[in-house]
Amino acid sequence: MGNYFKWIAGIIAAYFLLDDNKAAIPTKPPTSVPPTSTTFQPVYFAPPLEPMRMRNDTLGAGHFGARRRKVVNGVEVRYEHRGLDLKSMYKYQSVKSPITGYIKRYAHPYESDLKWEGCLIIGEGIYTGYTVKMFYMMPNMIGVPVRAGQNIGQMQNISEKHGRAMDNHLHIEIRKNGFLLDPAIFLLQGEPIA
Ligand SMILES: [Zn+2]
Repeated sequence: MGNYFKWIAGIIAAYFLLDDNKAAIPTKPPTSVPPTSTTFQPVYFAPPLEPMRMRNDTLGAGHFGARRRKVVNGVEVRYEHRGLDLKSMYKYQSVKSPITGYIKRYAHPYESDLKWEGCLIIGEGIYTGYTVKMFYMMPNMIGVPVRAGQNIGQMQNISEKHGRAMDNHLHIEIRKNGFLLDPAIFLLQGEPIA
């Protein structure tokens, strides 16, 4: 029995070690506690997709902390969603930068399937300290400055990979000084999300 638990723990540890943001990821998403509660003032982020509609399909809900499961080496691993998923409304929909800063690099959600792309944006000005990572979109520029609300690429169709049961969507992760936060804090300050 002890070996069984060690084995499971090893798989979970491997999952986090494979992730390039492992240092910034708390064991549980900090859904209510910002990194510096005395000084933390969330700023408004531009909507990356318009209109903003939360993903909600039979394979998962789009909100931060939603339950997820995947199979690793034949073993089911449960984890919590580390971003927010916005439903794409049509094919090749334009994606906008939520913040002003620069697009540092591509980001790939699946190491073994590089067809699926995304990008990492480093904030500047009022967005200094923030980073935004988006998946399932094709950036049309890398290493250049961007402004909040500027078109930076087009949606891919991730439901092609996982099946039609999944809403085609954009995955967004937001960090402040390396801490993962609920994107709803920043994206939903205007109109409520549907
Ligand atoms: Zn997601």
